[in-house]
Amino acid sequence: MNFLRRRLSDSSFIANLPNGYMTDLQRPEPPQPPPPTGPDRSRQSGAQVAGGFFSSITNVVKQTAASAGLGEQSTGGPGRRSRILLVIDDPHTDWAKCFRGKKLQGDYDIRVEQAEFSEINLVAHSDGTFAVDLQMIRNGARVVRSFRPDFVLIRQHSFSMAENEDFRNLIIGMQYAGIPSLNSLESIYNFCDKPWVFAQLISAYKTLGAEKFPLIEQTYYPNHKEMLAMPSFPVVVKIGHAHSGMGKVKIENHYDFQDIASVVALTQTYATTEPFIDSKYDIRIQKIGNNYKAYMRTSISGNWKTNTGSAMLEQVAMSDRYKLWVDTCSEIFGGLDICAVKVVHGKDGKDYIIEVMDCTMPVIGEHQVEDRQQIADLVVNKMNLVLSKTPIPSPQRPTAITQPQSGTMKESEQSKIPPQRPPPQGGPVQPQGPHFDNHQPSQRADKQNVPGHDLLAENEPPGPSTTAGQQTSSVGQSSSSVTNVGTLPSHQTEQPQKTQTHPQLNKSQSLTNAFNFTQSSFFRSSPNDEAKADTIRNLRKSFASLFSD
Ligand code: ATP
Repeated sequence: MNFLRRRLSDSSFIANLPNGYMTDLQRPEPPQPPPPTGPDRSRQSGAQVAGGFFSSITNVVKQTAASAGLGEQSTGGPGRRSRILLVIDDPHTDWAKCFRGKKLQGDYDIRVEQAEFSEINLVAHSDGTFAVDLQMIRNGARVVRSFRPDFVLIRQHSFSMAENEDFRNLIIGMQYAGIPSLNSLESIYNFCDKPWVFAQLISAYKTLGAEKFPLIEQTYYPNHKEMLAMPSFPVVVKIGHAHSGMGKVKIENHYDFQDIASVVALTQTYATTEPFIDSKYDIRIQKIGNNYKAYMRTSISGNWKTNTGSAMLEQVAMSDRYKLWVDTCSEIFGGLDICAVKVVHGKDGKDYIIEVMDCTMPVIGEHQVEDRQQIADLVVNKMNLVLSKTPIPSPQRPTAITQPQSGTMKESEQSKIPPQRPPPQGGPVQPQGPHFDNHQPSQRADKQNVPGHDLLAENEPPGPSTTAGQQTSSVGQSSSSVTNVGTLPSHQTEQPQKTQTHPQLNKSQSLTNAFNFTQSSFFRSSPNDEAKADTIRNLRKSFASLFSD
């Protein structure tokens, strides 16, 4: 504390603080809660010893979270239990609304956490422990949350060759953590290369024959070097793995073909070619669980790609033929809960299957609300199925806070989720995109291995909106990346505490350095050092969320 006082009196340090930050720090202390009872007592008293500086930071962060409306995500009152569903989607769809009122077996509520891939990070350990971190801007405020989802619904592409759209590292992390999902993470990873998926369609074509499964003719080029043979024109060249019509070019002659081959050379990826079908319309046959729908999409703007420009959408009757196509495709990669088959219907009256989409397929047409409800029902069914196999953690189980950190593997054995390997297939994993570049490598994360615990809310006092996860945490199972600052143990009195470390800590680095704690010192086993390390980690987390851009 003396150091911090000195540091805060340093004018250059204060000059670097964001506007109004000191005002926040100088706010009067909130009234102290009544002295705690029970197993958490020593830790809470440590928090009081830690004093006003830390709790001021906590207040600032809590206010930020509250202003973003995130404090209201708990679904139940005291005694209610909930499971956390992470939905990866853009904010345009309010998935919390789709799951409102839905329950899981055992009267569990579903608490929906929604974020985009770009707002997510995670850390997973081979012993089955993991934590997902969200950093997002909501209502103009930066919010940082940490929790362990019980299930994930993925509605966004995890990979596109467009800039900053490679999130395969997160799919691997979720698989590593063993988080159940819809569709399966294996299938999602496999969907990260279109020709890899097309290879499955070729298998179906070989099994069913051209009559039953009219797959478009396609040629695959691993790179530009083989793009010499002259196909008949016009052709459609599809470069790499991209979405929404991106990277798809209609080529009329060999000169243009050579041109496009030279572009493929620069992209350093694969390409495919298909005969250009002079089309009347596209057909999309979608399957959500056991619900089938078919749509016809006709270009209005005259673009040969009906998914580009304006188009007219009409629902059409499901035929047995369509059902066969989509049912066949739904069996690939071990089964797809949600999928859609895309077909070009030519002016020659023939159908050409061009692609299958997975759980990232956008819902379209007049029945979007219904479709989302069906997706939600599917998620509930699958959550019931997979979570009934997962033993429900006992809130009274001894936790990390009462164990020395050196015993981590032992202490977590009870509720261990068996580690799973990421699938071997698919393209190489790229380094993280620039939005992760500022992140410091996460330190050892919280070893609490109970899925579904919200690390943000865990140390909050029980109130009307407290969920099961929060109640569980009140016995000190794990620490929060944010609120932990307010309940920081004193160095002398506390047991070493495992904390969830948050990435993206550049701006708090100076604080760490000033304390003379090197990165390696975090891994020393001395309890005193561990407590110091916790202090630093907590400070860094709080500073990161306060100061980052
Ligand atoms: P999305 O992200 O919507 O799946 P995409 O980037 O995967 O799109 P495709 O579906 O392969 O791209 O193609 C986009 C559109 O171009 C199709 O909807 C179809 O209208 C048209 N198209 C694709 N391939 C052909 C083809 N061989 N002949 C004629 N039109 C085609």
